[in-house]
Amino acid sequence: MTRPSAPRGTRDIVDLDVRTFRRLEGCAGACFEMYGYEEIRTPTFESADLFSRAVGDTTDIVEKEMYLFEDRGGRPLALRPEGTAGVVRAYLEHGWDQSAPVKKLWYGGPMFRAERPQAGRYREFWQIGGESFGNPSPQADAETLLLVRDILTSSGLTNGVRFLVNSIGCAVCRPAYREALKAYLTERKSDLCENCVRRLERNPLRALDCKGDGPKFTEAPLMADHLCDACRAHRDEVYSLLKATPFSFEESPRLVRGLDYYTRTVFEVTAPGQGSQDAIGAGGRYDGLVKLLGGPDTPAVGFALGVDRVARALQAQGFSAPPPKKIFIAQAGVGTSVTAFTLAQKLRTFVKSGRMPAIEIGASTKSLKAQFRAADGWGADWLVLVGEEELKKGAVVLKNLRSHSQEEIPLVEVVDRLLTSIGKTN
Ligand code: ATP
Ligand code: MG
Repeated sequence: MTRPSAPRGTRDIVDLDVRTFRRLEGCAGACFEMYGYEEIRTPTFESADLFSRAVGDTTDIVEKEMYLFEDRGGRPLALRPEGTAGVVRAYLEHGWDQSAPVKKLWYGGPMFRAERPQAGRYREFWQIGGESFGNPSPQADAETLLLVRDILTSSGLTNGVRFLVNSIGCAVCRPAYREALKAYLTERKSDLCENCVRRLERNPLRALDCKGDGPKFTEAPLMADHLCDACRAHRDEVYSLLKATPFSFEESPRLVRGLDYYTRTVFEVTAPGQGSQDAIGAGGRYDGLVKLLGGPDTPAVGFALGVDRVARALQAQGFSAPPPKKIFIAQAGVGTSVTAFTLAQKLRTFVKSGRMPAIEIGASTKSLKAQFRAADGWGADWLVLVGEEELKKGAVVLKNLRSHSQEEIPLVEVVDRLLTSIGKTN
């Protein structure tokens, strides 16, 4: 029989990857708390129409990347392709728009998009994101960027991270810009890809965001030249706050998000070590979304980090999260079972401070040789052999599997000895 394999575009997160994910999630959780966010865990699937309304039906995500299915009752559902829609849905469903004038929520978890898999691009990938509701001030935009920076810095990603920031205006000033851009692109229609031609009417901004077409239009009109006074003042204030912090970022006048509910600040974060997928996160202000989903006019700003890509960037710059030290207890002979078992438990409960070592016990039904093989396969650093002969003398054999040294020591000393050795190597 052939062995089963994971579906295309998915993979198991193991070893260093899982430790890197954890590190990032831990640092993110601590940073979110510091910035006044509460954690929320929304369902991994929602009504399909939530995403077509929230993400927009002229986006790649909704047009071609959603995993759509019907449940047994025929309800149209989708695996979530991103986190914001679910959080806004929850915000409204819980009535937080009424009870909490300002609400900040963060989430982490898997997202699903039917994309062409490549390095750094998966069909199931992980995001960590935050959404801040109710604060229209430029301070909320600036704070969001600093929060992203703090998450990355505290998890160890410091080299080569770039923050690209722009303003894409609002419902007052964007329509005129849109027309100007549409006119410009219409004249160059033959240079546009099929998708961008199709979207030209409804969503011309997408062309600037298109991986193929975007770079072609270096002379395209810029939103910066069309901002209304209020949007310009908002943008200038965001930039002055960031410069006062200080925070290094690049004003990036060609950066867009092609959706109407995005307002003013948009940003993208990149890091080297990703090949062509160097975007590790993105975000911005979306003052129009809560209303679009049936709530009151509510300012909001948020972001999402791609955990898989941040983890790759961390590893590309040499990040290593060592596994815990490992102690393996082998047992052989009559009357050793209880001693071996209680020794394992003693070690597990005695370690109160510092980094916990991992304790594993060999299968008492297996030969000593098989247990040694298991210890190697598991990657043990030390092995304690509880053997019948030694035990009669109140002793065990302690092997250091790294230096290949071994000695017989009194059973009563083994816990102290191991903890001291671990303390030295940590
Ligand atoms: P891209 O331009 O790379 O397709 P996007 O604009 O679709 O990204 P967003 O929807 O803004 O991405 O999601 C935020 C972050 O999530 C991205 O910056 C990226 O790090 C990550 N991300 C998005 N899609 C994938 C994917 N298929 N696999 C892994 N990470 C992803
Ligand atoms: Mg994408």
